Formats: sequence, C-alpha cells, structure tokens
Amino acid sequence: MIMRIGIGYDVHRLVPGRKLWLGGVQVPFSQGLSGHSDADVLLHAIMDALLGAAAAGDIGALFPDTDPRYEGIESLVLLSEVASRIHALGYAVVNIDSVIVAQQPKLSPYLPGMRGKIAEALDIPCDNVSIKATTEEGLGFTGAGEGMAAKAVALIERR
Ligand code: MG
Repeated sequence: MIMRIGIGYDVHRLVPGRKLWLGGVQVPFSQGLSGHSDADVLLHAIMDALLGAAAAGDIGALFPDTDPRYEGIESLVLLSEVASRIHALGYAVVNIDSVIVAQQPKLSPYLPGMRGKIAEALDIPCDNVSIKATTEEGLGFTGAGEGMAAKAVALIERR
C-alpha cells in the first residue's frame, strides 16, 4: 500500500468588517480574516496539506488570487475541488489532523461543526478529521490578535 503525507500552513490577517470563516463554519467574532476568498485559514492549510501529499502544487498556483473567479469564494468549494483533484490522481484521502492558532475567540464549541463540513467535502468519516485549537499564550502576531494561523497534515493512499 502506497501512503503519502503532506503538510500545510497558512496565515491571514484579522480585520474589522469581515465575517470569520474557519473550517467552513461562520464563527461569531468582532473581526474576520482578510483575503481574496473567504480567507478560511484552516481550509487553506488543509488544502495545501492534501496537495502536498500528492506533490500537486499548492492553492496559490491552483486558485490564484489574481483570478476574479475566486474573489469571495467559499473555501469549502475549493476544498471539494482539491479532493476531486486528489481522487483524479489516483489517491484516496485517509485522514487529516490540524490545529488553528488563535488568541480569540474560544473555538472549541465550533470544532465539531468544522469537522463535519470538512469530512463532507472530502467524502471521509468525521472520525478521520481532527481539528485542535490553541493560543500562543499572548505571544507573537496571533497573541496580539493581528492574525490567525493554521497548520495541517494529510495522509493519502494510492487506490
Ligand atoms: Mg490563505
């Protein structure tokens, strides 16, 4: 059995006047992440992990932020597209593990909903999608509330 692993990392800046999208869920907060799409930092890290596992480039190459088609697009739609691409390359997604780095808000109530959305987009069981949330103890840009980061790993196997 051929198994491959990939890593993904993303950062977005927090700004007023935007909705906060994380893992395909709209999280109530006073600020949102800025970006060309919905700026869902978690889904972006997961997409890059999946693409990395298949050595199929990255989301910047696949969905360029200069392309008006992707302006304001839901990252869940892009995640489904990445899943299709992984399948077309002859792989199945095994599991995802991930972490969101944010000082605020408290994310634990929203994690089950995010897992469901991601599992649905990838067509895998919820049990195969893990999301953790952590702060960086007030340190750095996440601690100062200037932005959020996300890290993900993905395992895929040759079908
Ligand atoms: Mg991004």
